[in-house]
Amino acid sequence: MISTIKSLRLLALGAAWLLALNPAAARAQERHYSRADFKRVRKVDAHMHVYGPANRLVAEAIRDRVHFLTINVDSPDHGSIPRQLHDAASLRRRYPGRVAFAGTFSAAGFTKPGWSREAVREIDEALAQGAVGVKIWKNFGMVVRDSNGRYVMPDDPRLEPIYSMLQREHVVLLGHMAEPLDCWLPYSKMIVKGDAEYYREHPQYYMYLHPDMPKHGEILAARDRMLAAHPQLRFDAVHLASLEWDVDRIAAFLDRFPEADVDMAARIGQLEYQAETHPGKVRAFFIRYQDRILYGTDDEYGPSDNDPQAVAEIAADWRRDWRFLVTDDEMHSPDLDRAFRGMHLPRSVVDKIYRRNAVALFPRAWPGLR
Ligand SMILES: [Zn+2]
Repeated sequence: MISTIKSLRLLALGAAWLLALNPAAARAQERHYSRADFKRVRKVDAHMHVYGPANRLVAEAIRDRVHFLTINVDSPDHGSIPRQLHDAASLRRRYPGRVAFAGTFSAAGFTKPGWSREAVREIDEALAQGAVGVKIWKNFGMVVRDSNGRYVMPDDPRLEPIYSMLQREHVVLLGHMAEPLDCWLPYSKMIVKGDAEYYREHPQYYMYLHPDMPKHGEILAARDRMLAAHPQLRFDAVHLASLEWDVDRIAAFLDRFPEADVDMAARIGQLEYQAETHPGKVRAFFIRYQDRILYGTDDEYGPSDNDPQAVAEIAADWRRDWRFLVTDDEMHSPDLDRAFRGMHLPRSVVDKIYRRNAVALFPRAWPGLR
């Protein structure tokens, strides 16, 4: 044991010598962060769902230098929208500069006259309380039905007053449209194991079981028609624009819509999957689109603030993702069968993905953060 430590020390000394003798190697090291730099660098998790007082979570975020965006969502699993708005606005007031939030609107009563007006009013209320963006959820395309029984697509004219208002007021629309492609595949063909778990628990969203429902491509085509019709709308295509299985498709989406960014929330596993076989290609994607990609986890917390385990799991996710993006370590994931290596992105790219792009997209979100 002692001799191992000694030889490690010798190795470290040798490495320091080499760096001193080789300025190029020293510069290369400066161009990358290390695993240990995690706690030193200010970061943004641009996709969380945080409810209740959340003091324990925020204490961890402060220790880890993480700022975050909590996103309200019209989902039955997340509580009523007024409740979510109350919690998010309270978090922002109690932790200014640390927590920002995005509001949302309810699809309830969609087929009734006056729905659009009510939705815009709901959005106005969220903006008045400090929301920096507005989320539209996958219920458009997958759940909400018209009076004739057909699924309402994201480019429905009744959503138009929302889109044009957000475009006019320069408010970011966060769009979670459709699902990962795994949702339309049998369990045996799914890319990440976590997806199989989610769809076993949420069979109503498992499209493979419902072949009569809209296809992945149909929903995304409707989203893209909406974006083409609103060329000035700032759009945060969360979950890698639901094109997570192929970085080439995400690239084509970003090329087509210059006002769109993507976040990688809950889809880092699919990037790691691609990194198993095509690490250079995934890394080239990060480098090429370094100004358009936001870090985010999709981690949920609360409303109970008495759950140290939940805090520990989120803290572990933040560290694990940092390791994947920053180091070139060989890594394993419970979602995947094979090993993959970290992306070893340069510092300048890490700073953009972890902070600068989020600050540029949401300039009012975290005052003082650059
Ligand atoms: Zn989410």
